[in-house]
Amino acid sequence: MFESLADQPPDALLALIGLHRADPRPTKLDLGVGVYRDETGVTPIMAAVREAERILLDTRTTKSYLGPEGDPVFVDLLKPIVFGVDPGPRLLGVQTPGGTGALRLGAELIAAARPGARVLIGTPTWPNHAPIFTAAGLTLVPHRFFDVAGQRLDIDALAAALESAGPGDVVLLHGCCHNPTGGDLDRAAWARVAALVRARGILPFVDLAYQGLGEGLDEDAAGVRALFADLGEGLVAYSCDKNFGLYRDRVGALFGLAATPAAAEVMRSNMIALARVNWSMPPDHGAAIVRTVLESATLTSLWRDELLRMGTRVRAVRAALAAADPRLAFLTTQHGMFSTLPIDPARIAALRADHGVYMAGSGRINVAGLQVGDAPAFVAALAAVGWS
Ligand code: PMP
Repeated sequence: MFESLADQPPDALLALIGLHRADPRPTKLDLGVGVYRDETGVTPIMAAVREAERILLDTRTTKSYLGPEGDPVFVDLLKPIVFGVDPGPRLLGVQTPGGTGALRLGAELIAAARPGARVLIGTPTWPNHAPIFTAAGLTLVPHRFFDVAGQRLDIDALAAALESAGPGDVVLLHGCCHNPTGGDLDRAAWARVAALVRARGILPFVDLAYQGLGEGLDEDAAGVRALFADLGEGLVAYSCDKNFGLYRDRVGALFGLAATPAAAEVMRSNMIALARVNWSMPPDHGAAIVRTVLESATLTSLWRDELLRMGTRVRAVRAALAAADPRLAFLTTQHGMFSTLPIDPARIAALRADHGVYMAGSGRINVAGLQVGDAPAFVAALAAVGWS
């Protein structure tokens, strides 16, 4: 049976973790793996999460099955955080195993409605996007979203892609904190996209995986809120894995906006049917933590404060890098943890071999892997390998 399988390449970023761990140099810097790190270099368990786990330990009476839709209270508590005002019964959501599960479920929902539908996808993007949509049987239509050499968004390329699309097509958009470039649409660009999406009847599918790690919870959702304010149909794949620091607990949701409340019920029943054949039901623990935090005003403000501090730290590292080398000034115009440097593979390899500086082979850096005080060493290493 399995002799027909071809070997699959390992995940390059996970391999980088192993290389970094094995490097004995005390001055090594890890800008590779995409998780938040605090000022001690740790990916912390947030204080509100710890407290919620304590509450759950004391109060939970059963671990019996939920259902394929997960915990509806968790989903309802997220709605105002994501959408601001609740659009009402046209908006539905189901809990998913992380943002990845939400993306896959959304892709399968689209494929069920319109087999082989075209998905406009801006490049570069998170490396898992294309395989997820392809695995669901959809057709990728790439366009340039970000010019890495010039460190500029290519809004015109996005607009041209939208202008060439129509009803039955999908556009994938990053809600905030673009991975891997940090290049986010500003208010005017979101308005332009919203107008085109509406005029052409395109379905927007927003991936919102880092809300709160950019400029703030409301600021990071401003684009998705503007887009959904006057929209017929749309999807949002949401992740709590980063903004609650719950990575391994796999916490997410797929939200759908349908044309009518009745269509929303049909959409929900299809999401549930697809969830059932994929994972039957999502894992409960992480979503129960989020629900416990959001049900408590005290824990919610503890969580919001800590998230705010995380975003502030990331912005401080961006500012420190820009101050250490004016050629990195673009970092302060970008959002979230990531940026993609215009740097070639030979220099990336030299940074690792000669300076213990680890970054993805694409040139993506996770700014949160650095401390403010690391900026001079990082900039010196870039200069030593001749980066410009
Ligand atoms: N979307 C983007 C843009 C991401 O960067 C990630 C995680 N790296 C995800 C979705 C998936 O998040 P999760 O871990 O919740 O599946």
